[in-house]
Amino acid sequence: MVHSLSLSTRQRSEMIEITAEVERLVAESGLDEGRVTVYCPHTTAGVTINEDADPTVRADILEALERLVPWRGGYRHTEGNAAAHIKASLVGHSVTVPIMGGRLALGTWQGIFFCEFDGPRSRRVLVHIG
Ligand code: ZN
Repeated sequence: MVHSLSLSTRQRSEMIEITAEVERLVAESGLDEGRVTVYCPHTTAGVTINEDADPTVRADILEALERLVPWRGGYRHTEGNAAAHIKASLVGHSVTVPIMGGRLALGTWQGIFFCEFDGPRSRRVLVHIG
């Protein structure tokens, strides 16, 4: 079963937590054991898992990526968003989480994040449960 989640991002770079939405879809599926794959079908955004308890972790990740891949860097891609493409590839486009006992088997401090690198835009995330 594949579901689509819609998101409206508000900044050029941001990490939006989507754990609750994914957890809801898993609960609605009624699946007790399996896995969920969260996939980002965009070239300038990605998906990752990291700490959701302290929001400064998100800020640090975004700032570190900005230092690593500055917006202006003499890139060849003429659309002007080369940095966003590079960050998206660094972060990756999907994560897979086991489902155990009908719930996401995330660690205590883990959350699933949609990572925008060329916002604001309308985006979507595909969630495959099986
Ligand atoms: Zn581009």
